[in-house]
Amino acid sequence: MMKEEGIWKYASYFPAIDQQNRISIGEGNTPLIRSRRIGPELGLNNLYFKLESANPTGSYKDRIAALGVSWALEQGKEACIGTTSGNAGAAIAAYAAKAGLPYHLLVLEHIVEEKLQQALVYGPDIKKIQGFGEYEQVGNQVFEYIINESAKKNWEVLITAFQFNPIAMLGVSTISFELWHQLGNRAPDAIFVPVGGGGLFTGISLGFEQLSGGGTREDKLRSTSIVAVQSEGCANIVKAWREGLAVPVSGDSASQISGLQVPNPPDGKQVLDVLNRGNGWGHTVHDQDVWRWQETLAVQEGIFCEAAAAISLAGVEQSIQEGRLDDPDQMIVCIISGAGWKDGSRMRELTKKNPEVGIYTIESIADSVK
Ligand SMILES: *Cc1c(COP(=O)(O)O)cnc(C)c1O
Repeated sequence: MMKEEGIWKYASYFPAIDQQNRISIGEGNTPLIRSRRIGPELGLNNLYFKLESANPTGSYKDRIAALGVSWALEQGKEACIGTTSGNAGAAIAAYAAKAGLPYHLLVLEHIVEEKLQQALVYGPDIKKIQGFGEYEQVGNQVFEYIINESAKKNWEVLITAFQFNPIAMLGVSTISFELWHQLGNRAPDAIFVPVGGGGLFTGISLGFEQLSGGGTREDKLRSTSIVAVQSEGCANIVKAWREGLAVPVSGDSASQISGLQVPNPPDGKQVLDVLNRGNGWGHTVHDQDVWRWQETLAVQEGIFCEAAAAISLAGVEQSIQEGRLDDPDQMIVCIISGAGWKDGSRMRELTKKNPEVGIYTIESIADSVK
């Protein structure tokens, strides 16, 4: 029998989906890479990067898309509908293309151009929505429209949050299953997770709870701290945690970090449940620090990720400053959620300080021509 592709080796954790409806483009099975320079410099001997940037469309959203589109097929849905800041759109568009399902997509007004183009390549129907990504109220209107529209038609809601599609989101938990196996059947001591809407964080924490073996849900989680890292400009979850609240505070987004501009985080309550149980903590990070770590990851580790992904490392730095990571041998994992090539304007920012690349003849650069 052929080996199951992508996330489907964990199919027993998902609802039953017929073999012919299982769509894969090779998502998951992403590398877990040990830090060579940044970890030791920070005083951490076991700092690891989980390279979700290595997924087929360049982010962990492929895991959700694979399960969500397959589940839509299984239920006989005629199309998918959802929102995106960019990465979910490209991921679902790719998997919907393979499944032969139409995909209707509402995107942020100021979506990163390369992310929009990447999604468009696969041929979905895309509309930009004015004020979406900045105003909490517009975000809520968009979600309401999608819920109403899908109820009228035989469409699957594929918004990448547990609140909207808890089955598709089980795809995220495969990150935890892979980490467990990659670390030799153990969980890391701490996992640093970029948080926008909270789905990535929630899926990872659920994944560790579901891992086979004895013990209660609390037992399995107790050993692992899951750390939520948000941009200071859009931190309604971490701000609520600091105030001891059970639901996110409200407020618009001022963050420039694409992927993390979610002022109305749909899974915020689930994240706060985990943090308030003491299974982790939160950080808010300035955009400048995120950009600094994005550059450092590239020039010191050879990992070019998008800014949203580098926020996990900015969180590690803060945890050290707060004295939360005092054992140098702790196993620390940063979720590198997406790839750097997704954002052309950030790439141009990063290369700005390099001198112009000139054109030469080989003769002019050779030391001497014999
Ligand atoms: C979607 C996304 C996030 C945020 O995930 P949430 O589930 O919204 O918290 C972080 N990084 C990247 C690269 C993403 O695409």
